[in-house]
Amino acid sequence: MVLSNYHSHCTFCDGRSAPENYVKFALSKGFRAYGFSSHSPLPFDTFWNMSLSDMTEYLNEIDRLKQKYKDRLEIYTALEIDYLDQTYNPSIRYFQELPLDYRIGSIHYLPVSNELSEENMFCIDGSFTDYKAGFFTYFEGDIKRLVRKYFESTLHMIEAGGIDIVGHIDKVYMNGERFEEFSIDADWYKDLFIPCLELIGKKGLMVEINTKNLKRKGQTFPHKNFIPLLKKMNIPVMVNSDCHFPDLVNDGRPEALDLLKEAGFRTTRELINGKWEDIPFD
Ligand SMILES: [Zn+2]
Ligand SMILES: [Zn+2]
Repeated sequence: MVLSNYHSHCTFCDGRSAPENYVKFALSKGFRAYGFSSHSPLPFDTFWNMSLSDMTEYLNEIDRLKQKYKDRLEIYTALEIDYLDQTYNPSIRYFQELPLDYRIGSIHYLPVSNELSEENMFCIDGSFTDYKAGFFTYFEGDIKRLVRKYFESTLHMIEAGGIDIVGHIDKVYMNGERFEEFSIDADWYKDLFIPCLELIGKKGLMVEINTKNLKRKGQTFPHKNFIPLLKKMNIPVMVNSDCHFPDLVNDGRPEALDLLKEAGFRTTRELINGKWEDIPFD
């Protein structure tokens, strides 16, 4: 089995342990490759993002681990970069000039004003209580409006580019599916989501199968019902745990690989000595 993880967090953002502890866990499970992808700095401070002033130390620490473990594990330096709007996203010069092995583009925040401050952000990735409050305040209790805004942002992120992997592409359903009018099977939903996949296919980007909620809530991102469509569209995928704790490095991988197999996938896209290649996962 291909053992790798390209989406992970550590104490440089909201991960709960030092980077080396994730490496040690990955080694104990026989991993071949491990990538760190801290939450990128934002134009304002939050409890879950890296601060700009820690960037050099982050890059140096992952470099140190690369050297220390080079005979046993391929270690990669990346970031999970937020798309906020046209002015702050993975394609801006700051992120493009950082010496990273790859970039994950994700959406956690939908800005509700042009002024980028924490109070002007609607978080799609937080608690249901907060999601519900914002849903009434900013979207007039209209789930379609919220989902439209989310996938419009996703489409803009893919268009702007500067990323290799789209992170938890449909995370909006995590809280959204608790509303009665929400349905991933509805035409209105597919009409918003599928164009994002089409553009990803056109741009040659990768989509991760994010397993963070798989064991606990039975959720994958993208939702498991869409995995066959990814196969049909020839979109390359890999399995990522998006772990914030070392013992979750490998969480949900066998289950996700089963889903990929059922959908007809036989390979995942993997970094091999710094180059992305399609590798059979059996
Ligand atoms: Zn994320
Ligand atoms: Zn993440």
